[in-house]
Amino acid sequence: MSFKSIAIDGPAGAGKSTLAKKLAEQLGFLYVDTGAIYRTVALKVLWEKADPSDPAQVVPLLEGLELHMGYDSDGVQRMYLEGEDVSAAIRRHKVSGAASQVSAIPEVRAFLLDLQRKLARENDVVMDGRDIGTVVLPDADVKIFLTAAPEARARRRLLELEQRGEAANYDAILHDIRERDRQDETRPIAPLRRADGTALLDTTQLNLEQSCDRLLSLVKEKIAL
Ligand code: C5P
Repeated sequence: MSFKSIAIDGPAGAGKSTLAKKLAEQLGFLYVDTGAIYRTVALKVLWEKADPSDPAQVVPLLEGLELHMGYDSDGVQRMYLEGEDVSAAIRRHKVSGAASQVSAIPEVRAFLLDLQRKLARENDVVMDGRDIGTVVLPDADVKIFLTAAPEARARRRLLELEQRGEAANYDAILHDIRERDRQDETRPIAPLRRADGTALLDTTQLNLEQSCDRLLSLVKEKIAL
């Protein structure tokens, strides 16, 4: 039996997780948030007080890394580090920057590649990240590049943080988003870019419902559901 895969890539804050999760629910596919996996590696690096930008400090931590992914009864992805549920901890601001740094290390990417491919071999998946259509699942049935203007992404992130009761500042968030874009787009390995055969979905002018509708119709153009 062959499984279907939908790859969604794009920059930070474009709404990938929200939209990919909804799409997976609509289709009955497994949603895989690969950013959460990179964030969990970054959290381990921070726990060890290591420098996330230094391969010599990060790579030795991969060996014996106790990282697990699971789903709760509502189908929400949870991340576990050394047996501890770190799903909330990996969303902290500090972890975002560290995730971007560790993800530029080739050994980290190679280490996580098998895990991501195995999930797609064994399930129908909607997988989101930065290099899903280019590197992880180049033969995905549907490839989508989801983006929005940095200012729109910063406004959404601000709202999200405020709703979680975290202190947030628009200018700092915008600066951060631009910095992460730069890091993700210019790294030599698996840079963020639009793969061939990828549909573009720009959500700058779209609300959540409109974005979901557009996404679903893009998918329906490619696969019979
Ligand atoms: O998507 P999210 O913001 O949670 O991802 C955190 C960081 O992990 C990103 O800034 C990116 O550098 C990295 N990442 C990656 N490849 C992926 C998913 C995330 O490099 N497939």
